[in-house]
Amino acid sequence: MIRHTQRHQIAGHYLSALINGDFTGITETEAAEVEQYWKTYPDQTLDVLADYPEFAQCDVSGWVSECYEVEIHYYPTDCTCRKCRR
Ligand SMILES: [Zn+2]
Repeated sequence: MIRHTQRHQIAGHYLSALINGDFTGITETEAAEVEQYWKTYPDQTLDVLADYPEFAQCDVSGWVSECYEVEIHYYPTDCTCRKCRR
């Protein structure tokens, strides 16, 4: 499988769940959103690029809020992009 990289905007309160697997600061609904996000971008590692949040649409929840720009690396299954079909 080929590693894929994307830039995402992610609300600050999801970051400890995404980076450390620490779900204590978020609700059950938000935890479910994180699980769904992980399914969409499997086996991911995440680097936070921004020092400060900006108002943007969060790629985990879809809501507009204070988000940090991150770069994720992930290994999609069943990807049909040009790189994967080769
Ligand atoms: Zn692909």
